Amino acid sequence: MEQISKLVRNNRVLLIYTGGTIGMGINPKTKALEPLDFNHLLQNIPEIKLLSTQIDVYQFAQPIDSSDMTPAFWVQLVDIIAARYAQYDGFIILHGTDTMAYTASALSFMLENLTKPVILTGSQLPIGQLRTDGRENLISSIELATLHHADNSPMVPEVCIYFNGRLLRGNRSTKQNADGFNAFDSFNYPHLGEAGITFQFSPYHILKPDYRRPMVPHTQLNQNVMVLSLFPGVQPPIFQHVLDTPELKGVVMRTYGSGNAPQQPWLIDILKRATQRGVTIVNISQCVAGAVAMERYDTGFQLKETGIISGGDSTVEAAVTKLMVLYGQHTDVATIRAKLCQSLAGEITLETA
Ligand code: ASP
Repeated sequence: MEQISKLVRNNRVLLIYTGGTIGMGINPKTKALEPLDFNHLLQNIPEIKLLSTQIDVYQFAQPIDSSDMTPAFWVQLVDIIAARYAQYDGFIILHGTDTMAYTASALSFMLENLTKPVILTGSQLPIGQLRTDGRENLISSIELATLHHADNSPMVPEVCIYFNGRLLRGNRSTKQNADGFNAFDSFNYPHLGEAGITFQFSPYHILKPDYRRPMVPHTQLNQNVMVLSLFPGVQPPIFQHVLDTPELKGVVMRTYGSGNAPQQPWLIDILKRATQRGVTIVNISQCVAGAVAMERYDTGFQLKETGIISGGDSTVEAAVTKLMVLYGQHTDVATIRAKLCQSLAGEITLETA
């Protein structure tokens, strides 16, 4: 841990540096970008020292490209936050964009009843480059992690991604662009806020935790899950091998449109057998926007009969990390399946009768 500034100020945040493009530099031999330590980042953004927020920095010994992110790393992040929860007003996680939406989703389930902001950000261009987007992303994220209502409760007490002027719910976000500065969007949920000259928030859409209850960290994850995408021509034996894998606990099945799949008896049989032997299969659409509605077409209705569960308008990132967290916490499949249909951290829109 190192300390950047200690100006007299009430706000105190913990900046956790995991790696990602924001802190990368060019490797002189390969000419490819590689993660560098936090001092490199600091040298390129001296303004950070001028902020009137006390910022402590936690950096991992080895910063990573987020393609190397793992559930074990998420557990470390949760441990770091939980151990220092009372000391800080908010947490900022500097992270590569490639798997940021997975990390944000996982953390949203692992930090139950979160009452403080956890803002993930990064950049598309390294901080050392003139046109970098990292400077604004980082400085705004620090500000977002400290903003409070008049009663001193935080403005955004949830896991968010801040990128390119948009504040998004973490478990609703998806990386949508590998090149543009608008790397993320939340297609099925309104933005929580926008950055202009001032920040504009959408309070109705921001989670309201129970401040009387403690935050509960969960660090047990079960990784025996799989994301499986349907496509015309998918081969029965291959599909069957995957679903027959003995270790398999949960599957996110990416279907067509509003949750449809081919009306092939072999597919229905394989799915039925898998759900009957206790595998939980969540139906998520391959479309980035819109929701699964299995009762809309016959092709979806048949799927419903197999015992697979609708993931509604969840993202793939949220569904797969939710499975990992639920199977880490529970052994009873009925409980897991029931919780998949509930909103644990605002990740799914529930039908209101
Ligand atoms: N490959 C990088 C990473 O995810 C990309 C980025 O940071 O934008 O770490």
